[in-house]
Amino acid sequence: RDLISAQADDNDLQIEAALRPKSLGEFIGQSRVREQLSLVLQGALKRGKAPDHVLMSGSPGLGKTTLAMIIAYELGAPLRITSGPALERAGDLAAILSTLAEGEVLFIDEIHRMARPAEEMLYLAMEDFRVDIVVGKGPGATAIPLEIAPFTLVGATTRAGLLPAPLRDRFGFTAHMDFYEVDELERVLARSSRLLGVDLPADGAHEIARRSRGTPRIANRLLRRVRDFAEVRADGLITRDLAAAALNLYEVDAEGLDRLDRAVLGALLRKFGGGPVGLSTLAVAVGEEPETVEVVAEPFLVRQGLVARTPRGRVATAGAWLHLGMTPPPDVFG
Ligand code: ADP
Repeated sequence: RDLISAQADDNDLQIEAALRPKSLGEFIGQSRVREQLSLVLQGALKRGKAPDHVLMSGSPGLGKTTLAMIIAYELGAPLRITSGPALERAGDLAAILSTLAEGEVLFIDEIHRMARPAEEMLYLAMEDFRVDIVVGKGPGATAIPLEIAPFTLVGATTRAGLLPAPLRDRFGFTAHMDFYEVDELERVLARSSRLLGVDLPADGAHEIARRSRGTPRIANRLLRRVRDFAEVRADGLITRDLAAAALNLYEVDAEGLDRLDRAVLGALLRKFGGGPVGLSTLAVAVGEEPETVEVVAEPFLVRQGLVARTPRGRVATAGAWLHLGMTPPPDVFG
């Protein structure tokens, strides 16, 4: 897996657990989401009831799992974690729902990848705190209703557009997580370096933050790579120049684009003259799954103003040509 890919790999998991903010107060950035969520949670605590179900949407590594854990922490409630792909059959979900404690927080990551029968079971559970257990097969099959404890569902998705409307509508609160600003990532890095015992001056933090694709997970990962570089090739002090040299070595460029980002941009410009080109054609050109291009690379390229989505396909902006050191054609967009 690429260094910069925002998806977590095994190396990340332990460190991530150590770096995860535990409470809403420790959570950096996303101020609107934080404030909204804080009201939802305080309201629920005041009423002594489980809060509305919460949906979080946003790119990988922006803090959705972290927020789910924080929700449970702030409510003083137990937390159960599962994911859409793990819920292949309705029975998988029934087994979880029927054993939830009252007020428990159930986190379903990648909720858009849940199988259809499980999804339909979830509708009823979210609305009525009830599941129908189907016994038998064919015309003789009967549904036995089973009450379950009131719980709070926290769903996370990288692709809110893929959620069926009936599921989306059953969430009382949706948090849209956006990419982080550079100064917010500097604070994430300051906190992480303190926890990891790394000496990180402000200019070094700035250089890493600016190359972190707006993503805390990537900031934390780049910090570890830069620390290695500083300890092996220098005296351990992470200056701006040292951070830049280390990240160049790892093929993270000055705007934070990684190999995949640059491959996508390069194909868009060189093979398709800047577009418009369809997502799947573009994905084939870089040898990746369309979903990887759509979820991992594209949102950041769009946010950086390098790529635009149009009804006819993906289009490179003038900035994209300039970023790869090429001259934009005269009629180019943006
Ligand atoms: P997601 O579930 O959206 O993929 P995670 O919640 O697993 O992302 O976050 C990835 C890592 O990034 C976490 O381990 C945490 O250390 C860090 N992180 C995410 N959001 C924040 C934040 N707002 N403040 C500090 N650290 C964060």
